[in-house]
Amino acid sequence: MLNINHEYLFKMPLKKLIDTLDDIFTQKGFSELWRNFLIFMILLAITTTIHEATHVVTAYYLGCEGELAKISFFTGLSAIKCEDNSTKLIIISLSAPILLFLIGLYLWFSDSHPMVKIWALLCWFYGSLPSLSFFTSNTDANFALKHGLPPLWALLIFIIPTSIIAYLLSRNFKRELDMEKCSGLPQKELS
Ligand SMILES: [Zn+2]
Repeated sequence: MLNINHEYLFKMPLKKLIDTLDDIFTQKGFSELWRNFLIFMILLAITTTIHEATHVVTAYYLGCEGELAKISFFTGLSAIKCEDNSTKLIIISLSAPILLFLIGLYLWFSDSHPMVKIWALLCWFYGSLPSLSFFTSNTDANFALKHGLPPLWALLIFIIPTSIIAYLLSRNFKRELDMEKCSGLPQKELS
């Protein structure tokens, strides 16, 4: 039952969205290169919107004022007004990059469609890891650090997703290399 819901709620709409976009751009006569570029940009815009919306929704639920100050393809900026409550500000700032990391994980494991995998990479390398780079100024994690997030926490919140992503990517590339090697060698009999 759970599998069916998951299939219908997420997997199929994701695939359908990408296939529909691909069909529309094919009908318009775009080459594969342009089609991929356009879909990539649309997914990037969706990723940025989800990131900023997460800040705003979290702020709303915590009783702070949040509004989408500016959304563009490449950057988003949420204006959060909160009474002097540093814990709330820390949660609001970290909510978006952490959610994007989790969405990336979901997308990575949900489908073998290449564009869905690329979307996962966008969530990680665009929506999550740069914002978790607490050592860079003006990032979400840096903002949280300035508002009292313990440095050790900031470090862990950066290291854990980064190492998981690095592990998944290296496992994937290793598998690809192994497959290449196997296809080039005579098959050994398994005993
Ligand atoms: Zn953010």
